[in-house]
Amino acid sequence: MKNHVNRVVLIGTGAVGSSYAFALLNQGVTEELVLIDLNKEKSEGDAMDLNHGMPFAPGPTKIWFGDYSDCKDADIVVISAGANQKPGETRLDLVEKNTRIFKGIVEQVMANSFDGIFLVATNPVDILSYAVWKISGFPKERVIGTGTILDTARFRYLLGDYFNVDTRNVHAYIIGEHGDTELPVWSHANIAGSQISHWINQESNYKQEDLEQIFLNVRDAAYHIIERKGATYYGIAMGLVRLTKALLQNENSVLTVSAYLDGEYGQKDVYIGVPAVVNRNGIRQIIHLDLDETEKVKFAHSVKILKQNMEPVFKI
Ligand code: NAD
Repeated sequence: MKNHVNRVVLIGTGAVGSSYAFALLNQGVTEELVLIDLNKEKSEGDAMDLNHGMPFAPGPTKIWFGDYSDCKDADIVVISAGANQKPGETRLDLVEKNTRIFKGIVEQVMANSFDGIFLVATNPVDILSYAVWKISGFPKERVIGTGTILDTARFRYLLGDYFNVDTRNVHAYIIGEHGDTELPVWSHANIAGSQISHWINQESNYKQEDLEQIFLNVRDAAYHIIERKGATYYGIAMGLVRLTKALLQNENSVLTVSAYLDGEYGQKDVYIGVPAVVNRNGIRQIIHLDLDETEKVKFAHSVKILKQNMEPVFKI
């Protein structure tokens, strides 16, 4: 008989957080879900609302509006608290404000003897993952950012749509900063093992310039959505659930997360989006892709831009 009860504590029940909670309940991923937000009424209301959907869920999830003492027995603390991008703002514009917010949050989590895995979604996610790692003092494997999980999903969706193939059979990664300097790894992009370049060469309907536009649509997707509805949340919420499931169910899944590099890809002391194997212990291993020369230069540039924006974290 299984006696461990999986508990996820979610800090920040705004658009991203509450969409995540809803998706988590609908997929029956955890036995316990605790909601925390500065706006207590909002998270209390969310807990009530979500609980009323329980008869329609695939299985029971105990959900309550809690506080930091609930982190003690948590397996995962998910942080989606903080400011989001306003129209025209980049993710990097949020760094100072959200670093300050994170200091307060992570210190309270640690004061309650949390000993699980941190999952970070707040932007700029790579820099804030570094901040959580630094403030918590946790091993790097147990602090994970959502990185380019959403960008990779957008990429696979758009490529699947273009080639009219199930997105789940598209294997292609976006790596680097979750932001303006991210890059597509075209050198390894394939559909069911067949290189994307073969698809282009086979059919005159498919064009190289369309692929370039697909990447631009991936990179700029958040701007396009924010212009239309003010924020993005469903895609990232589902990506967060995917990641939570991979961790709790010890899946050894490969997902493009923000991970700490210590020599991988020739880079050190930075959190950035790369494919990694994740399981119950967090990040088991970073997958090394043999990037071509252009990709290497772009990846190094992405690292450089992240490092240039980390001043507020180094000042903590
Ligand atoms: P939101 O404004 O709807 O929600 C933020 C929530 O954080 C609010 O409920 C607020 O009360 C809460 N909060 C603020 N300070 C807090 C604190 N100190 N303690 C507890 N709660 C606190 O914003 P959102 O749209 O949900 O976005 C949240 C974050 O997620 C943003 O930084 C956004 O850019 C990011 N995001 C990331 C991705 C990704 O791919 N990683 C995708 C979309 C959005």
